[in-house]
Amino acid sequence: MKFDRIAHAMSGVNYKNFHDVEVSEFDAVVVGCGFAGAVCASELARNGKKRVLIIEKRDHIGGNMYDEYDETGVLVHKYGPHIFHTSSKLAADYIQKFTKTIPYEHRVKADIHGTYMPVPFNKTSMEIAFGAERANELTHKLIKKFGNEVKVTINELRQEEDKDLAEIADYVYENVFLHYTEKQWGLTPEEVDPSVTARVPIFISRDDRYFQDRYQFMPKEGYTKLFENMLDHKNITVALNTEAESVFGLEFEGDAEDDKLTGITIQYKKFDKPIIFTGPLDELFLGRFGRLPYRSLDFKFETLDKEYEFPCGTINYTVSEDFTRITEYKHLTGQKCDKTTIMKEYSRAYEDPKNQIPYYAIINEENNAHYEKYKNLVDSTPNFYAIGRLAEYKYYNMDQIIEKAILLAQEILDK
Ligand code: FAD
Ligand code: UDP
Repeated sequence: MKFDRIAHAMSGVNYKNFHDVEVSEFDAVVVGCGFAGAVCASELARNGKKRVLIIEKRDHIGGNMYDEYDETGVLVHKYGPHIFHTSSKLAADYIQKFTKTIPYEHRVKADIHGTYMPVPFNKTSMEIAFGAERANELTHKLIKKFGNEVKVTINELRQEEDKDLAEIADYVYENVFLHYTEKQWGLTPEEVDPSVTARVPIFISRDDRYFQDRYQFMPKEGYTKLFENMLDHKNITVALNTEAESVFGLEFEGDAEDDKLTGITIQYKKFDKPIIFTGPLDELFLGRFGRLPYRSLDFKFETLDKEYEFPCGTINYTVSEDFTRITEYKHLTGQKCDKTTIMKEYSRAYEDPKNQIPYYAIINEENNAHYEKYKNLVDSTPNFYAIGRLAEYKYYNMDQIIEKAILLAQEILDK
């Protein structure tokens, strides 16, 4: 799959080669063109009339949200399935300024030895797992303990001593969480931060949607088009194929490892206007305090000569296979066409920055403390801001980033 050069040229985004740009003419430099970078740039340009240069190391805009049509004309997300869901009116309204949307509520089923079961594990999953009669008894127990229409994390459920509740916990742990988590993180559910498995709690409900947020939709013409609309502004310039490490000069107080960062030079001149960085801090600082751990992914796309392969957007392989999940994009995008494209996700250790992408921070106390060393460098430099899933080393969804970026741009404009 190749970035569509014609659409690229016609998009209205002001693309420039970094070497043809005079950086001192800009009021702000943004590194990275995912939601963190693009929303900041858009807000600074539109609300503050600032001239903003975005530098992006990939050959396209959109960060991990980037989508494109494959050879058979199916719209696919190149870096994994992205479903917009939020309870934040600010984030939902923001997206809708730049795109029409289509309603979409994501549904996921676990493939458990060939049987499909809703995930999050719910009342229907209970019936499939235990049979109607026993499920009825167990569900009553669950409701008595936790209430109806409530969510319970697997960690909470596993603490229960009651024999029936322990039976449910054991089943769900073994069939939904254990193998999937081992594949995804190379760790057991006990070893990952509790907030990770808490993202997908047991839901004592018939609701089989993956998310319960108030606003759930997809951009009608795709994410790339949404980004093009966001970046289509006379004050925004985008330089692709440009890595911050190769165009930034870092100035430190002295030669010691923990000396403060005093400034950043670009094109051999100190840039003292705002610099917003959305990539991994350890890579920018060349592993000064050692590399931070991440998980990476490999994606395998396959086009099938049929209209649909699966009953819903994503199937999680929770007890078998070496991939974690398969996504069938047409369910997400609402596209109608004869063929369908599915994508398998394989999780990997992140070991090779030249050829891999860091997708997930591995959050835990030790890694968070390690990250703080990098963050301290940022905090000592008043015009340097770190924001985003990588730059903050957090497990953020898109809506959280959009909100944070709107607020950061406002904070910068207020200064
Ligand atoms: P990114 O999108 O990663 O953008 C960072 C950009 O910075 C990239 O384009 C990168 O190339 C560039 N960059 C990095 N370092 C440098 C550098 N040194 N120099 C120049 N450029 C640089 N969220 C949801 O809300 N719903 C979902 O369904 C969902 N699904 C997901 C599925 C997967 C597989 C993954 C990995 C994430 C998913 N997310 C989802 C989370 C979503 O991807 C993030 O919230 C979002 O990408 C964060 O935006 P960002 O701008 O911080 O980061
Ligand atoms: N998880 C699991 N089985 C599932 C779904 C999720 O074990 O069927 C665990 C797993 O550890 C995963 C985490 O819950 O990494 C968060 O899942 P989510 O679907 O939110 O992951 P993402 O879409 O962010 O990769």
